[in-house]
Amino acid sequence: MRPTQRLAATCLAVTALALSLAGCGGEAPPPDGTILTDTHTFEEVAPGVYFIVGRDDVIFVQSNAMLVVTDEDALVVDSHVTPAAARALIASIAEVTDKPVTHLVNTHYHFDHAHGNQAFPEDVAIVGHEFTRAMLMTDVMSQPTASIFTGNIPNQIAAMKESADAMEDGEEKDQALNAIRIQEAHYVAVGETEPTPPNVTLTSRMTIHRTFEGRDRPIELLHLGRGHTGGDVVVLLPNERVVFTGDLVLAGAAYIGDGYVDEWLATLDRFEELDFDLILPGHGPTFSDPAQVDALRQFLSDFWNQASAAHEQGLSPEEAIAEIEWQGFLATAPDALKIHCVQTAYSRMDAAGDPENSDSA
Ligand SMILES: [Zn+2]
Repeated sequence: MRPTQRLAATCLAVTALALSLAGCGGEAPPPDGTILTDTHTFEEVAPGVYFIVGRDDVIFVQSNAMLVVTDEDALVVDSHVTPAAARALIASIAEVTDKPVTHLVNTHYHFDHAHGNQAFPEDVAIVGHEFTRAMLMTDVMSQPTASIFTGNIPNQIAAMKESADAMEDGEEKDQALNAIRIQEAHYVAVGETEPTPPNVTLTSRMTIHRTFEGRDRPIELLHLGRGHTGGDVVVLLPNERVVFTGDLVLAGAAYIGDGYVDEWLATLDRFEELDFDLILPGHGPTFSDPAQVDALRQFLSDFWNQASAAHEQGLSPEEAIAEIEWQGFLATAPDALKIHCVQTAYSRMDAAGDPENSDSA
């Protein structure tokens, strides 16, 4: 197993609401095998396989990506949050490999992983689950997840300005002002987004057969069941023993507003049957410790149990959010987002209790 390399400058990646931009932009010395571009860090987790993190002191990309180089081409997993972030990703990839990108895989439909799709050239196959295509064919920008996150950006910028105004001149204030500039540029970039669905779809699994330096490098796309969304795909490199998980498997708390929390644990059981040494998550640094997956299980169980209790008491979602102990970035999320999480959980509970509608999507 290769050592897990961690960078200090990834705290934004787990803070999906971008509330802690200030003070997050410290430059950590890159570990061996890491390539820095103007906008991204490429951590080489196996020969020709890179875990890609945006440099949050330069650009807001909101999610991690992966690059898999083969003898004939290159495959990218996830496209970041905006076309502008994706263009920076594409430019950075060109510095790392001269192989043409032929495939972009979407781990799921969420804006922060798929709204860069349109920036990829038309001859790149965009691959995802059928559910991901179906969702990106709808007016996804106005659905609660994307609209609440995006709608909150001006509030975040205002709060960041207020905090910066109160600072003495100096390095900390310079970093805060830089973070504001990055977030303002991000808000402009969101306006350019035209959600672009996968044009190659799968329902359970698909393998892209390639070689690297003459040795087999199969790239397996696996849908292990519903969890974070109805169409999560993980990308497993069985020979390199690494797996990119999107938001299906994160270290601890994950966003649950579109989740099938009641099914997610069983999906994690199937995930843990896979052979791998290193998890490349959609947010946060790489990890190997199964205790991190256990922390996610605990988070999901805690939420589901509390939401179930609120449901049984007949509390409305608006009432329930005060009763639930929110963890991770959800602790500081706007009420509208918490309400959406509870509404989604309630709808799963109601569907499970209704034999006519036991498989509601
Ligand atoms: Zn997501």
